[in-house]
Amino acid sequence: MSQYNIAAIPGDGIGKEVIAAGIEVLDVLAERDGGFRFSFEHFDWGSDYYKKNGVMMPEDGLGKIKDKDAIFFGAVGAPDVPDHITLWGLRLAICQPFDQYANVRPTRVLPGITSPLRNVSGPELDWVIVRENSEGEYAGVGGRVHRGLPEEVATDVSIMTRAGVARVIRFAFKLAQSRPRKLLTVVTKSNAQRHAMVMWDEIAAEVAQEFPDVTWDKMLVDAMTMRMTMKPQTLDTIVATNLHADILSDLAAALAGSLGIAPTANINPERTFPSMFEPIHGSAFDITGKGIANPVGTFWTACQMLEHLGEPRAAARLMRAVERVTADPSLHTPDLGGKATTRQVTDAVIAAIQGDNE
Ligand code: NAD
Ligand code: MN
Repeated sequence: MSQYNIAAIPGDGIGKEVIAAGIEVLDVLAERDGGFRFSFEHFDWGSDYYKKNGVMMPEDGLGKIKDKDAIFFGAVGAPDVPDHITLWGLRLAICQPFDQYANVRPTRVLPGITSPLRNVSGPELDWVIVRENSEGEYAGVGGRVHRGLPEEVATDVSIMTRAGVARVIRFAFKLAQSRPRKLLTVVTKSNAQRHAMVMWDEIAAEVAQEFPDVTWDKMLVDAMTMRMTMKPQTLDTIVATNLHADILSDLAAALAGSLGIAPTANINPERTFPSMFEPIHGSAFDITGKGIANPVGTFWTACQMLEHLGEPRAAARLMRAVERVTADPSLHTPDLGGKATTRQVTDAVIAAIQGDNE
């Protein structure tokens, strides 16, 4: 029997609630399958840790998780700690050194869930957004506030490297190639950002040569928001920079019904370090402790983790269970307009796994 060693980092707010639900479901799934099991090691890193220790994670933190098979991450963010500290101190502090350069965000309208788009009932919206996850606007170097000048000046430096852009675009082409429609849209802002974004366009055209069976096109990011809302059926796989895809994927999640159902995988494709799986949403302190956080985004990212671990059968079983539950409006949490609790949704998914005979 294979054992998967997973680092569980619930983080802050509802991160703790949804990761607890995710672990419960994963254990049931392993038991149902019989061929593998999980060993979760819990790390209490996050804002509470920061308030005690002045850092979001211990100095040797990465060393403690670098040999894990995967990282299962909740969310960070607390009302009394600045957001840039929680983000850079934990989430990006793991993504960047572990070279998780491809951030993969599938978006679909699940059964029973209503898209805010009038003409979308389900199959018209089925995308995967690939976000460059290691450099670009969030490279994190060279920026500062220049104090003491007559006019204060602040800079944030965006860094794009040929190698960094090529590898994420190649990843996106491969992913597009593996999907039925073999369709890729490369998003930039090369009219205004005339250096790095022009290089993106160039590299996309070069990499495209390696994938003659993939149909691809280019969009400017502003026009892309319009295409996503007006012609969602014309899109399939999408690749964009760190900042652009960050924004587009929140829009995508909302168009698919709720931020609470959206998953994300931070993938290190070469597997030199573990990859990290998390729901897209943040710590949602407005609903923390109320027991109403939607766990579906976490369950969906657990499917991504199972696929990454080489358990596609279990991943498919979990996705079937999730879809059976979303199809029932009495099992919708308040973010989807329902009254169900995290507990009820989790129990229903567990029952659906146990009753799944495929
Ligand atoms: P958020 O994602 O936490 O919440 C946005 C809105 O969506 C809130 O109204 C929230 O209640 C709702 N929501 C989010 N997830 C939900 C779920 N699973 N079920 C039901 N409702 C859900 O974003 P925010 O409010 O902008 O940020 C809160 C904190 O989270 C901030 O500190 C922010 O920096 C942090 N954040 C962290 C991450 C991350 O860890 N990856 C991502 C985004 C925001
Ligand atoms: Mn975001």
